[in-house]
Amino acid sequence: MKRRGGKPTPLTCELVIPLENAVPYLKVVKRITVRCWMNIHVESHVVGKEKALLMLTHLCDVREPKAYLAHISLIPVLTRLGIKFGGVPYGVGIWNVPFIKDKCEKKRLKIYKAYKKEVDPRNILNPHKFFAVKTKMANILGITFKPPLFTLLIHLATLTTPIFGKLVSPREEFKEESVLEKTVYSCIKCGSCAAVCPVYLVTNEEAVVPKNKLYLAKKLLEGEEISKSDSDKVFLCTHCGMCREVCQNDLDLVAAWTELEKMLADRFGKPEEAIRDFVSTMESSEEYWRFVYAQKI
Ligand code: SF4
Ligand code: SF4
Repeated sequence: MKRRGGKPTPLTCELVIPLENAVPYLKVVKRITVRCWMNIHVESHVVGKEKALLMLTHLCDVREPKAYLAHISLIPVLTRLGIKFGGVPYGVGIWNVPFIKDKCEKKRLKIYKAYKKEVDPRNILNPHKFFAVKTKMANILGITFKPPLFTLLIHLATLTTPIFGKLVSPREEFKEESVLEKTVYSCIKCGSCAAVCPVYLVTNEEAVVPKNKLYLAKKLLEGEEISKSDSDKVFLCTHCGMCREVCQNDLDLVAAWTELEKMLADRFGKPEEAIRDFVSTMESSEEYWRFVYAQKI
């Protein structure tokens, strides 16, 4: 799983494991992960009388590439370890391809392949992600995910966990996100906010639409160039909170605007004159007052 936009993202390992092996497995998992400053959260569901579904998640931060790489390579190590404790990988998808034979016996796999061929003859649905991985660029990922090579890499990763542990320090653990960062990376770009923004209604300026302001904020956060004229448009906002009211992802947009405006004011200065003109445009706009009146009703 990867959170949209790539910021703190949960790494997961899911297994169905015999009940009596669950605790011994988790003890070994703890020993490995503590060495690498991984804070694993375990959710378990009892499945029938004899098995448990264990879902191990770790919140990792792609802004810390060393830690992210070290931790992501440990996830298959934990899966392989779970298989040794009698577990079976639970999910399907690219990370479980190397374990497909541990997941399904040969006969069942054959049935699945035949069924996929029957219902999806052109291999449109999740192509190259279930039975084998195939990618562009010389299929490097596909070759890496072939069980023999992948198993070798897992052994290597297991042996080098003490080194990983040193690579990753607690200082590199997950950094708190600001409201603006959270908002930027959680916006699903549905556009619902545009329809209720009174400034967009009056000015017809695409740059004032909340999702476009968030796009500008993303460039700012990622160190890309933005111009002063783009920056000035961000200040054309009444902080009315209508966008927050309708936001499909329940984002605290007004707090995000305050943070964004402060960042831009520090870099480019506050466009006082443009703000004054904007206020008088809004105050003299019939459309704006109709909008305000409609909200009161
Ligand atoms: S707070 Fe700003 S961006 Fe949001 S709806 Fe109001 S004017 Fe538009
Ligand atoms: S309503 Fe929320 S999630 Fe949708 S585009 Fe606007 S800010 Fe993004």
